[in-house]
Amino acid sequence: MRISRALRYGVAALALALTVTACGGGDEGSALDSAKDGKLTVGIKFDQPGLGLRTKDGSYSGFDVEVAKYVAEKLGVKPDNITFKESPSAQRETLIENGQVDFIVATYSITDKRKEKVDFAGPYYVAGQSLLVKSDNTEITGVESLTGNKKLCSVKGSTPAQNVKEKYAKDVQLQEFDTYSLCVEALRNGSVDAVTTDDIILAGFAAQSPGQLKVVGKPFTTENYGIGLKKGDTETRGKINDAIEEMIKDGSWSKAFASTVGSSGYPAPQPPAVNRY
Ligand code: GLU
Repeated sequence: MRISRALRYGVAALALALTVTACGGGDEGSALDSAKDGKLTVGIKFDQPGLGLRTKDGSYSGFDVEVAKYVAEKLGVKPDNITFKESPSAQRETLIENGQVDFIVATYSITDKRKEKVDFAGPYYVAGQSLLVKSDNTEITGVESLTGNKKLCSVKGSTPAQNVKEKYAKDVQLQEFDTYSLCVEALRNGSVDAVTTDDIILAGFAAQSPGQLKVVGKPFTTENYGIGLKKGDTETRGKINDAIEEMIKDGSWSKAFASTVGSSGYPAPQPPAVNRY
């Protein structure tokens, strides 16, 4: 009897101790803890040429991948010790909130709505929403052509899809897929008239199939790309901001851009200034 009671108290005390440890860490679950252990899990896109792409041989390429590697190195983690995790647009906040990734570098626009759930370092790049059509399309020339019930494709949980719903819902039909490569497939087979998202993403797809697809019109939004991380983790955010600034200052940013997006002739813009809010 006495033994079993002691055992019960023991188990209760142990459970309490475990709960306290799990909740008390403050920075528990921080990307810096993973980095201290020598490894990081980084969310990227797997299907966006020039930005975040997993090739058939299992390697990764693109500007976001280069930014991720540079930041990881500054946090003390070698490229080989990064696990890249596919982070589709609609899943990014959840992946961060659940701790399935340490941070995300995936054409991820900094928005107030997203900031309710996650924090952002950066920006490290500024893009703008644009349109991709088949090369022989003469009807859609820019945002002003978004009339007459045209069929548009974008991605669930993305800012361009949201923008279309808010501003052009009456004038176009919006089809939403999980990834941009699925939208591009729909464009190729004629089931949509245009794909809309950031100019730099569309340029990557256009460069993949020269003479078949083209980006039209001027960008019509401003998309500040940030590195998404756990809300409230100011220490990691500060360290990542330092890394981005360093990457711009030491020329690695320009080099990374030139060897990825820039290699298909896309002009390199000025890098942005990091926002220390
Ligand atoms: N930058 C936009 C966004 O974060 C579009 C690109 C994307 O979906 O990754 O929603």
